[in-house]
Amino acid sequence: MLLIDAVYSISMQNLYQQTINKSCSFEGPSLHSGEYSRITLHPTPANTGIKFKRVDSKLPANQIIIDASFKNIKSSQLCTTIENDYGLCVSTIEHLMAALHACGIDNLLIDINSSEMPILDGSAIEYVSMISKLGLKQLNSKKKYLKILKTIEVKRDDAYIKIHPSDDLSVDYTINYPDTIVGRQNISVDTINKNTFVNELAECRTFTFETELEILRSNGIIKGGTLGNAVVFGKDSVLNQDGLRTINEPVKHKALDAIGDLFLAGNCVLGYIEAYCAGHSLMHEALKEIFSDQDNWEIVISSEASDHHIQLEQLSAGVVNI
Ligand SMILES: [Zn+2]
Repeated sequence: MLLIDAVYSISMQNLYQQTINKSCSFEGPSLHSGEYSRITLHPTPANTGIKFKRVDSKLPANQIIIDASFKNIKSSQLCTTIENDYGLCVSTIEHLMAALHACGIDNLLIDINSSEMPILDGSAIEYVSMISKLGLKQLNSKKKYLKILKTIEVKRDDAYIKIHPSDDLSVDYTINYPDTIVGRQNISVDTINKNTFVNELAECRTFTFETELEILRSNGIIKGGTLGNAVVFGKDSVLNQDGLRTINEPVKHKALDAIGDLFLAGNCVLGYIEAYCAGHSLMHEALKEIFSDQDNWEIVISSEASDHHIQLEQLSAGVVNI
């Protein structure tokens, strides 16, 4: 009984850092550029973090790495784009980042041969399915979490994001599109881990409205958008032949995006996200707000207590380079 209890605790919050067991690839068109893109995920050692590598670039090897850090966010309009000091960027990283955050993957190298991730089916389900199939590898180094210590809040008009202190990662998200068939929707997930992510959020696709398609296209974006990788809402119905995958799919996708964007904090986060009508750019503001004051956060390392339940030990925030 004690053993089962211990395993359960560790599955909620991991004791050791993790990566994937072996390399795997994904490919397909990108949502905004329309370019065909291929990525390969590689296991990496402890304390190396999540990194992207532009394998199509002719720049020297040390200049083609882009760290998955909020400090590298270049743009957060419609999707999240990060860029390194040498001008190399990668866009639409949030769905993979959500899968990695939910699965508790701390270290990974993502080779990519273009400037935008493949959109796949517009959700994160292919990533978590592959990660589940390959399995995770525990590394010989204790896991570090970024723990929120004080509620932070950012606002823009009616929209807001608050991130509250919590002992795990959880989310409560509300969207409101009055005068559309989407309307007001809410999703609340108490503990984000691989199981709850798969059950509640992972299959939920990005979405837009038929009335916005022309504007988006005239701005030169969503060149790769199809009904195969996005939900499109018409005035009275869903244009996708098979309809929605789940009730409230749009707000669940927004929660997925928030979990992905928040992972740009550099470590798995212990915090409770409360969001209303927010998006990528407001989460970028929230990340900047967290790190604007050292009293807002700390790095904690997991440690096993005598009763086999994991406890978290404080580590001086200044020691860790985020
Ligand atoms: Zn998204």
